[in-house]
Amino acid sequence: MGLLNDKVALVTGATRGIGRAIALRYAAEGADVAFTYLSSAEAAESLVKEIEQMGRKAVGYRSDAASYDEAHELVAAVQKEFGRIDVLVHNAGITRDTLLMRMTADQWNAVIQTNLTSAFNISHAISSVMARQRGGSIIFMSSVVGIGGNVGQANYAASKAGLIALAKSIAKELGARGVRANCIAPGFIQTDMTAVLSDEIKASFVEGISLRRAGTPDDVAGVALFLASGLSSYVTGQVISCCGGMRG
Ligand code: NAP
Repeated sequence: MGLLNDKVALVTGATRGIGRAIALRYAAEGADVAFTYLSSAEAAESLVKEIEQMGRKAVGYRSDAASYDEAHELVAAVQKEFGRIDVLVHNAGITRDTLLMRMTADQWNAVIQTNLTSAFNISHAISSVMARQRGGSIIFMSSVVGIGGNVGQANYAASKAGLIALAKSIAKELGARGVRANCIAPGFIQTDMTAVLSDEIKASFVEGISLRRAGTPDDVAGVALFLASGLSSYVTGQVISCCGGMRG
């Protein structure tokens, strides 16, 4: 018996990195998985195949998280195809790093739109589905920098902080309908997003991590499994850091 037997999960941004690891972990625990991507159609096809080989249903949707209309069309399509949606992991996210003084309005807006407004878009669409079902788990992929801020990431940190307040508000609004909403705050995780950092910066990050290693997408998927499953049935409005004990 898997922890997510017969559940339907929707994971945004699942063609790479953390989202992909979550989609696979959920399928391994018995869930059927709908997921989104923006440009990686080939990677989406191979993820569908991988999940189907595990004996679960999977459908990949090209859907821009930043678009209100596409998010609503997506939720309607998933509802039609799978019949219900028990778990939402809103994981899609981007960075446009630079110091505040150099940051353009375009860089600010792109990150806020893709990381934060997207969460409004999809939770707006999905909240009525979950409220009708009288149950569901909403998980936003925040970040430790959404708690502590970061040099060169004012836009990203603000978007990730906004996700925390949004999840806490959803938890309060929808708790009476049995819908839970929580955030995961990963630290330094090895994915394409962090591959662009220099070896020097990566080494300095690891120095500041109690467990003395970068995290893996699977490390984050474990927390996402907990929050999706009945193991967290009395957990809502919370932020769980998954950062190996980042110091300072
Ligand atoms: P990643 O490797 O860059 O993958 C990003 C995923 O999001 C891809 O599947 C990408 O699809 C999708 N995506 C990007 N923009 C999208 C859009 N507008 N609409 C739909 N999908 C979109 O990222 P990651 O490192 O796994 O990070 C996943 C999440 O964790 C992000 O929210 C990130 O901010 C957060 N996080 C990451 C770290 C870290 O250290 N890596 C730390 C803290 C938080 P395509 O492949 O089609 O482009």
